[in-house]
Amino acid sequence: MRYIDFHTHTVAKTEKVLRICNCYPSDAVKDLEAFSVGIHPWYIHEDWETQLALLKEKAQGENCYAIGECGLDKLTDTDFELQEVLFRKQVAISEAIQKPLIIHCVKAFQEIYNLKKELQPTQTWVLHGFVKSEQLANQMLSIGCKLSFGNTLLENLKLQRTFAKLNVTDFVLETDTTEVAIEEIYKKAAILQKLGVSSMQQQIEHNCKEIFKR
Ligand SMILES: [Zn+2]
Repeated sequence: MRYIDFHTHTVAKTEKVLRICNCYPSDAVKDLEAFSVGIHPWYIHEDWETQLALLKEKAQGENCYAIGECGLDKLTDTDFELQEVLFRKQVAISEAIQKPLIIHCVKAFQEIYNLKKELQPTQTWVLHGFVKSEQLANQMLSIGCKLSFGNTLLENLKLQRTFAKLNVTDFVLETDTTEVAIEEIYKKAAILQKLGVSSMQQQIEHNCKEIFKR
């Protein structure tokens, strides 16, 4: 059975892993087996209308699985109001084309929480690179978000304790920008959840089917 890497910046193909490659609107996507496309809060251009037009075009592609990463980040220089404008626009695209949203969130969980409540999207919102507390995990799960965990799960004991308590349907796994093998993250996740690696693979495949509806 294949591993699914829910969010990665690695494009190289391998038999063993289905990679959802993160792309920016101007990236070439035609050779990718699976990708997401989004405007990251760090990279909002002055001419964001053009970025948005490119995004809309690529999002229609058969191999586009999700919109994102997009989101809110209070530690970046990009104007926060503009970030919210672009985030809302990407939520609207996600809803229009019926593909889920992969979210980058830094110190803006309350805002994401409020937006989810306000907009009531039909598509799943997945918080990628989740490294926060159990309380915050539960708060975001309670409104229907899913969480994606990466390499931090390998070494952060507090995060491991949080992860161990989650329901198996609450999460997916990712490598993001790291060079850690996705197999390592599955192995750790399986140990923490007291499952075998192949059960973890089946569970993640099931979770991804629910999220992607494909
Ligand atoms: Zn990323």
